[in-house]
Amino acid sequence: MTADFRKDGSDRLTLFMILDGFRHDFLEAAPYLKSIAGWHGKIRETFGFISTRPAMCAGVYPEQTNLCFEYRFAPHGSTFNPWLFHLLGWADPILPNRFLRLAATAWLRMTHREPVARRTAMIGHMPFSHFPLMDLAEHRLQTEPEYLSIPTIYDLLKSHGQKHLYYGFARPKHRFETMKRVYSRFVSGDLFEADRTMVDRYRRDLRGQRHDFAHLHFSACDWIGHRFGPDSPQMEEAIQTVDSWVKEVHEQALGSYGDVRILATADHGMVNVREHYDIGQELLDPLPFSEPDDYLCFRDSTMARFWFFRPRAEDEIRKRLEKVSWGRIMDEEMQKKHHICFADNSNGDLIFLLEPGAVLLPNYYQAAGTPPKGMHGYAPEAPDNQGAIVIHAPHRSFVAPQGTTLDLVDVFPTLVDMHGLPLPHESMGSSVLTQ
Ligand SMILES: [Zn+2]
Repeated sequence: MTADFRKDGSDRLTLFMILDGFRHDFLEAAPYLKSIAGWHGKIRETFGFISTRPAMCAGVYPEQTNLCFEYRFAPHGSTFNPWLFHLLGWADPILPNRFLRLAATAWLRMTHREPVARRTAMIGHMPFSHFPLMDLAEHRLQTEPEYLSIPTIYDLLKSHGQKHLYYGFARPKHRFETMKRVYSRFVSGDLFEADRTMVDRYRRDLRGQRHDFAHLHFSACDWIGHRFGPDSPQMEEAIQTVDSWVKEVHEQALGSYGDVRILATADHGMVNVREHYDIGQELLDPLPFSEPDDYLCFRDSTMARFWFFRPRAEDEIRKRLEKVSWGRIMDEEMQKKHHICFADNSNGDLIFLLEPGAVLLPNYYQAAGTPPKGMHGYAPEAPDNQGAIVIHAPHRSFVAPQGTTLDLVDVFPTLVDMHGLPLPHESMGSSVLTQ
């Protein structure tokens, strides 16, 4: 039996659903989302990887927060203890690398004070000697006060005495959920388990108490897009499954609340991977410079970020990168266009961005092996890198025609407007709803 909150006068719930990796055309295969869409369009992500969180929760670009990539250059950072990583570097030739990385991940997750490191740290394939020079860029969760120096949607809800449910990035998990996640990741390979568990928990939590706002993050399309590709049969199944969960979440809310509003948006799309490149072998290894003494290169899947400690190393590396056909150096014009004119060099002295469909392999998230079949994190204007957005706001009309492409920073003002809260002046985007 579900509680009927209409009786105590609190009749409204806003559902903010992030459909990770849900490319704009996936909507055609999602009958429920299409049926409830008062308005739908495309969404252009902010440049980088973690910049999607500040964009969606506060309507700001990477250069306003300095949050763009998971790792930043910070020789005195607080996350990676130098002595431990020096020790791991020495042990590397003796013990199997994979074992050391799993042990270091477990150690960080068990001992770290900050919830971001405790819940999400993963020692990937960056050389151990680089860790003491780097730090995680985020030290707070987006739901915590002071995540940004400007108000987020969670700050607004709190200051207006409103309650929210949160099932997003780095959400707290019960012990049993963690065990299920480890089993599904390492043993059964079930890529739907996380979302299914989240929907079950939402159903339970919704019954208990009145809430004003719920944030749900569906990961299945992203994970399946990476593994099988955005045009695979597995992706078709993922789209339909996520669509059925959206229906379940909506119907559950309608059982308790008379007025349910929905903003369902992708954070980015998914591009078919056609080719992969080893930046070490092809460009860097033949040079007479070494890491981390002369330069540092963080190998992400779709970009390489460089820091230079010797001018000659910079000159030579730049010259080599300029000749490459499968990527380009982000020049000043591109930095302005994508709002990444940072105040310091913690995100890189130089960013080399790959063309859509190319990936670096190996990179610091994936060692050599089967390349991913789908990827995102390319230039935000690349058509397949764009996601879908759906708005269900009964009795509201829209300023833009159906199918318009919005920037990810427009999500926050639209959400705040739809939910009925005042918009902070720091937000860069604009609402797609008419006033
Ligand atoms: Zn992804």
